[in-house]
Amino acid sequence: MAILYRSDAPRAAAWSQFFAKHAPDLDFRVWPDAGNLDEIEYLIAWQAPREFLTSLPRLKVLFSSGAGVDHVDLSAVPDHVPLVRMVEPGIIDGMVEYVSLAVLAVHRDFFDYVEAQASREWNPLEVPPASSRTIGVMGMGVLGRAVLERLRSYGFRLRGWNRSPRTIIGVDSYAGAEQFNEFLSRCDVLVCLLPLTPSTVGILNSKTFSALPHGASIINVGRGPHLVEADLLAALDSGHLSRAILDVTETEPLPPEHPLWAHPRVFVTPHVASMTQPETAAPILLDNIRRDQRNEPLIGVIDRSRGY
Ligand code: NAP
Repeated sequence: MAILYRSDAPRAAAWSQFFAKHAPDLDFRVWPDAGNLDEIEYLIAWQAPREFLTSLPRLKVLFSSGAGVDHVDLSAVPDHVPLVRMVEPGIIDGMVEYVSLAVLAVHRDFFDYVEAQASREWNPLEVPPASSRTIGVMGMGVLGRAVLERLRSYGFRLRGWNRSPRTIIGVDSYAGAEQFNEFLSRCDVLVCLLPLTPSTVGILNSKTFSALPHGASIINVGRGPHLVEADLLAALDSGHLSRAILDVTETEPLPPEHPLWAHPRVFVTPHVASMTQPETAAPILLDNIRRDQRNEPLIGVIDRSRGY
C-alpha cells in the first residue's frame, strides 16, 4: 500500500515530513518518484488526468488537494473510488481573512483612498457604521458559514443564500431560486462562495446584478466561471455596480490584454484567497486514510450527482 502526492510541488516537502513523523508505517511518495504504480491506493492531487488514473489499478480514494473539485473530470474517476475534497482549517482561515479584508476595504472606501492618494487628494468620505451595510453571501457551506460568522463580529447586517435552508445566528437566510431575488435586493456587498456546478455557472450575470441595490459591490472568491465578465464590465460602466474584487477569473492566469486588469473599479488577485496549508491539511488527510483503513466513513466525500 502506498500514498502518492501529486500536487503543489513547493509544499510537497512539508507533506512528506508530516507523514514521516506521524505515520512512519505509511509509504508516502511524492510525484514523480511514484515507484510501482500498482501499489498506489491513495492519491492526493489537484489535476487527475484520465490516463493517469487508469494507470493506478489499486486506487481506493482520490483526495483533491483543494476545497473545490470542479477541476476534476468525475467521469474519469472509477465509480468505486470516492473523490474527497479538502476540508481543513487552513483553507477556512485563509478565506475568512480574504473576505473580511475585501468587505472591510469596500466598507471603509479603501479603493477610493488608493485613487485619491495617486492624485494626492485629501478627500475624507463619510464613515457609515457597519450596521448600515448589508453583506450577502452566496453559499452557506463550510466557507460561507465561517465568513458570515466572522463578519458578524464587525456588526454588519448579514444575509446568506443557499440551496437548502441553513440557520446561522445573526444571518437572514434565503434558500433556492425562488428566494434569490429577495436575498439580492438588499445586498450592498455580494460575496460568491458557491461551488462551480451546472446550476451555478454564470450565476453572477446581468440579471443578478440588476436585482442588487444601485451601488452594490461584488466579491467573487468562488470560481471564475461563476461570473459573466462582460456583464460585470457593463454593470460597472453603467454605474449600477460600484466595485468588483475578483480572486478568480474565467481564464487563469488572466491574460495581460484582458479588460478586467485595466478597469479602474476592478481589483484582481491571482486565485490566492485561500490555500491548502500542509500543516493543517496533512493531519486531516491522515485521519481520513486511517478512517478508510478502519472501514469508517470518510470526511468530505463529494456527492457525484451534485458535483460538490
Ligand atoms: P461546501 O461546504 O460544499 O458548500 C457549498 C455550499 O453551496 C453548500 O452550502 C451548498 O448548499 C451551496 N450550494 C451549492 N449549489 C448551490 C446552488 N445551486 N444554489 C445555492 N446554494 C448552492 O463548499 P465550501 O468548502 O464552502 O467551498 C465553496 C467553494 O469555494 C468551493 O467549491 C470553491 O469553488 C471555492 N473556493 C475558492 C477558493 C479560492 O482561493 N478562491 C478556495 C477554496 C474554495 P447545500 O449544502 O444545500 O447543497
